[in-house]
Amino acid sequence: MASASFHPGTRALVEARPYATLEAVADAIRDHLPCGFEPCETCTRLVPGEGPAGADVMLVGEAPGANEDRQGRPFVGRAGELLDLVLVEAGLAREEVFITNVLKARPPGNRDPRRAEVEHSLPWLEAQLALVRPRLVVPLGRHALNHFAPDARIGAAHGRLMVAGELALYPLYHPAAALRGRNLRDVLMADARRLPIALRSSDAARARGTPP
Ligand code: URA
Repeated sequence: MASASFHPGTRALVEARPYATLEAVADAIRDHLPCGFEPCETCTRLVPGEGPAGADVMLVGEAPGANEDRQGRPFVGRAGELLDLVLVEAGLAREEVFITNVLKARPPGNRDPRRAEVEHSLPWLEAQLALVRPRLVVPLGRHALNHFAPDARIGAAHGRLMVAGELALYPLYHPAAALRGRNLRDVLMADARRLPIALRSSDAARARGTPP
């Protein structure tokens, strides 16, 4: 298990509880008005994410794509189909996990999210974290990973339990990246099969806060 530095904004906001329920967070996201940030200006709708409060596992992707932007739900396109298979490999039902993105609005043309845009979205993600209180956070791909652990590299961190502040992380390759290569897809599925072990170890890891 590796440890990583914590994004400075994360701890404060995990402790802050500006919203009483996940539905209140989702309403605030959906009601967000164009604010000058390009994704918030150009998206069809913002995508809050979905899943139950108290989910053991919270999956965090990068940003909505075209299908998500149309439907208002996370991971419903081709990457979402692969994510569904990842969940099957991990022995998890989609309804029992919380799925969201660091950025809640689709960047035009699916370009990479910009740092300021992610920071703008951060209070919503932090509120979701505070309300769900997942035992294990699964960052999908490098953008999500670097939000929680700025110094970590997905190539080294995937499939390994790590602690970032008060969160236990189990990073996975992004399903969209795995769609582009058979090898990455095999690695993603192998990592997914070991997710239940990471979940079982996550409470002790968080309590220790450092590698065993
Ligand atoms: N890719 C993401 O990172 N998130 C989605 O919701 C869909 C595709």
